[in-house]
Amino acid sequence: MINFTVGPVQSSQTVLNIGAEQVPYFRTNEFSEIMLENEALMKKFTNAKEDARVVFMTGSGTASMEASIVNFFDERDKILVINGGSFGQRFVDLCELYQLNYTQIKLEVGQALTSEQLAQYDNQGFTGFLVNIHETSTGVHYDIDIISEFCQKNNIFLVVDAISSFLADKIDISGSKIDVMITGSQKALACPPGVSVIVLSKKAVDRLEDYPSKCMYLNLKSALKNGERGQTPFTPAVGILRQIHARLKEIEANGGVDVEIARVKELAEDFRNKIKDLPFEITSESMSNAVTPLHPTTCSAYEIFLTLKDEYGIWVCPNGGELADKIMRVGHIGALSCKDNDILIAALKDLQSRGII
Ligand SMILES: *Cc1c(COP(=O)(O)O)cnc(C)c1O
Repeated sequence: MINFTVGPVQSSQTVLNIGAEQVPYFRTNEFSEIMLENEALMKKFTNAKEDARVVFMTGSGTASMEASIVNFFDERDKILVINGGSFGQRFVDLCELYQLNYTQIKLEVGQALTSEQLAQYDNQGFTGFLVNIHETSTGVHYDIDIISEFCQKNNIFLVVDAISSFLADKIDISGSKIDVMITGSQKALACPPGVSVIVLSKKAVDRLEDYPSKCMYLNLKSALKNGERGQTPFTPAVGILRQIHARLKEIEANGGVDVEIARVKELAEDFRNKIKDLPFEITSESMSNAVTPLHPTTCSAYEIFLTLKDEYGIWVCPNGGELADKIMRVGHIGALSCKDNDILIAALKDLQSRGII
């Protein structure tokens, strides 16, 4: 199997080997050290300041999205949500569930966000901003600079879901004045699913004092308190946290986060060059390095996904709902190479010669 989905993705051999080991007991100095190093490397790779903190939440990315909603917002807030697809909709659903006062900017499939759109919301008393910086469902990567500028101008607390973007596109927490950044283990971190990560700026850490948590498992204050000594309030996904440690160290040893991002970018560009002669349209105005969203012009996207999986052992990422037949996505995250791109392109050419696409 070659896995070109957007998560879970292929892991390196080092990460796989840890998965085969026994899971150790974790209330130890040894595990605390791993966790403290995980925190330091996450801060380094996101360019967070020294006084930033990191929480490792056992639960997939959505757990950390929910934790951000429950711990940083309440009825005093007025929130602006960018909704360009199913992950934007998830933030909207969370705001609904917790009965928060929100306004959504709904974008068309593939549409980028503009500063003109944001300008309509200037000086309206918004206090929070929620964005999936890469809306993975449609493959649109929003411009963090215009978002950051808008939030600074209006003094808005900025939460960035960078779950599929961290390690694929540059994220600069200090430079972009991001208050909270979220990522997950099964995207470009290329580990098994089950852990999500929240990086909190000093401002976010301080804000917790003002917002008594209504949730026990997702309580960020107690997570931070335990994290001071490299521990967690409850039994975490110990095995995955050890795999994350190995992966972060591997990236560091290979030259750091910029080298990793450049590797993903090269894979994405290689694929985008090679797909040019095939009957697909790229459907995003602004792409992340993580994913190429493709609209097949001659047949159903979902049929291509099934045929590649069942007959070629190649997994691309299907879309759900009304986009199922229209868009499929090819991921460039995880342990993949340009040779893998060649195999996928050869399979697509074979489909073409068989008259399927
Ligand atoms: C994958 C992803 C999530 C989280 O999904 P989980 O299934 O809960 O891990 C959230 N936001 C974005 C942008 C994603 O790509």
